[in-house]
Amino acid sequence: MLAIAAHPDDVEQTCGGTLIRMAEMGYRTGVLDLTAGDMGSRGTPEERVAESQTAARHLLLAWRGNQHMPDARLENTLTARMTLAVKIRELKPRVVILPYWEARHPDHYRASEIGFEACFLAGLKKLEEYSEPHRPQKILYSSLYADVKPSFIVDISAQFERRMAALLSYSSQYGAADAGGLFPDEPEIRERLGAIARFYGNLIGVRYGEPFVVKEAMRVDDIVAMPVRSI
Ligand SMILES: [Zn+2]
Repeated sequence: MLAIAAHPDDVEQTCGGTLIRMAEMGYRTGVLDLTAGDMGSRGTPEERVAESQTAARHLLLAWRGNQHMPDARLENTLTARMTLAVKIRELKPRVVILPYWEARHPDHYRASEIGFEACFLAGLKKLEEYSEPHRPQKILYSSLYADVKPSFIVDISAQFERRMAALLSYSSQYGAADAGGLFPDEPEIRERLGAIARFYGNLIGVRYGEPFVVKEAMRVDDIVAMPVRSI
């Protein structure tokens, strides 16, 4: 499984619990951050990447990389798509998690678009001669910050604390609160992320959850075994 995100600390807020859960089940998981947060008000890109490697250990990732694309001005260029397609061919993920395709931050929806198009390109035989074609089987969109109905929700009740520890590894971002309130302190971030995870968990009758959207229909073989009560 490979999660592709715009910034270090994005997956820790949106799909980190799912990555932890899949790693605990024995799957090999990875994260590719497209930028190193070089436009961030706090911390240097070097600090952000170092913090993301600490977070990777909490997330039980087998691999984490950073493409060092330009933060806050991510563009869906041919170079961006091709570089990412080659990376996808190297890593050969069966499942790719992308940000949801609509978002407030332009980097988030561009990362979604670049990610989708790179997955497509990666499967083309004649793309380039140095790597084998590979196309992921499944693309999931992480929809935690999007106001849309999820296609499904993963129960991350047992993974929530570990995900929180991963997020708090970014000490340059989540240290003491500043006057403007743009950078929340630990109690604030814990309450905020706890409330969101609790909201999604509640939709499937568990404590904490992470939502995803898929564009294709979901297949069900045993209707009787379907979880989550209707009434
Ligand atoms: Zn972000």
